[in-house]
Amino acid sequence: EMLPIFYRTFFPTHTMIRWLSYGRPIKNYLAYREFSFTLPGDAWVRYQSYASEADFRDALRQKVPHKIDIGPVYTVRPRDRHMYRPEACEARERELVFDIDMTDYDDVRTCCTGADMCDKCWIFMTAARDVLDDALRQDFGFKHILWVYSGRRGLHGWVCDHRARVLSADARGAVVSYLSVKLTSPAPGGSGTGGGAYGDMLARPGLRRAYRHLLHYFETALLASQGYLTDARWEATLATWLPHAPQCRAKLAAKFSQRSHSDPWDRWTLLRAAHEAGGMSGAAGETLSLPALIFFLLYPRLDAAVSRGVNHLLKSPFVVHPKTGKVCVPIDLPKGPARIPFRHDAVPTLTQLVSELNHAAADASQPANGEKRKGVSWRDTALRPYVLFMESFIDGVLADE
Ligand SMILES: [Zn+2]
Repeated sequence: EMLPIFYRTFFPTHTMIRWLSYGRPIKNYLAYREFSFTLPGDAWVRYQSYASEADFRDALRQKVPHKIDIGPVYTVRPRDRHMYRPEACEARERELVFDIDMTDYDDVRTCCTGADMCDKCWIFMTAARDVLDDALRQDFGFKHILWVYSGRRGLHGWVCDHRARVLSADARGAVVSYLSVKLTSPAPGGSGTGGGAYGDMLARPGLRRAYRHLLHYFETALLASQGYLTDARWEATLATWLPHAPQCRAKLAAKFSQRSHSDPWDRWTLLRAAHEAGGMSGAAGETLSLPALIFFLLYPRLDAAVSRGVNHLLKSPFVVHPKTGKVCVPIDLPKGPARIPFRHDAVPTLTQLVSELNHAAADASQPANGEKRKGVSWRDTALRPYVLFMESFIDGVLADE
């Protein structure tokens, strides 16, 4: 069991405290924040709170939680809540948070199902992140948004701007409604009306922008990697994608059959042309909508309840996922030319970190230029860039507090 080593050596306690203090004295602010621990044997301990960094560090080392969740800042210290009337203990601040889970995409991904996840279906998460990040910045003016890999098959977003942290439950609900698009099938309005409804939708600048992102991810990545139009199920796929356009579907199927099975782009070009023509000649009344299809496949599928609640708990960044052993790391490493694209299979596991630490320790024990090197730490492991990224993220947040 390596978790004790994790909390002694790897978990960035100081960084986490620096983040959640938002530049204020711990006793006036962080001490009112709820942490909850999942302990060995699945015992769940809620309403933990800490008056100092040392307190928090001691608790982690002593309790060795399998999971840490972060809750809101309350009006009273959560661990003292018994001393007050229940009404006195009210959630007053909390980051605006988002939770997206790969399992919600099971009906549109072909490579994996359930808890499984691969680079091919992670594209759905990347697209969701881009659309939400863009909307939160451009439509709501938020600046400090942290995206974190959940350790297995999901993505968490933390909007840390002060303005976001003090949003009421109603305001959070309004943000979620704005960001939600109800999609049950590519043409929910039925023959002749679905296209119209989506045409109106694209009148909203935010959704027009989202559409551009999503079409890009579809055409450059998902079309080929998911094999939608080229695998054995392509006829069933057409039936799902064009449920109200049987004549158009039949024509496309005939054309597809005459052409190469192996070229998804060729087939997509035919399908796209049919959409852009608003159906095909001889298919009267069959209105097709390309946006409807793309939104159905890729638009972010949010867990709305998580975002609406001021007092919802969300798993802390930098804990180790109990099933995969992966550390829940921020997914945006340095921006610009040096930006490293996120790869879920490159996320460090605890086993890997411990091994790297042991190697570094072995190297350090050998004299270098006649002198013994200083002690080894997480800085000598693959965790380093993620913690440094988190530190620079916090610098940005604090500059605006
Ligand atoms: Zn997959």
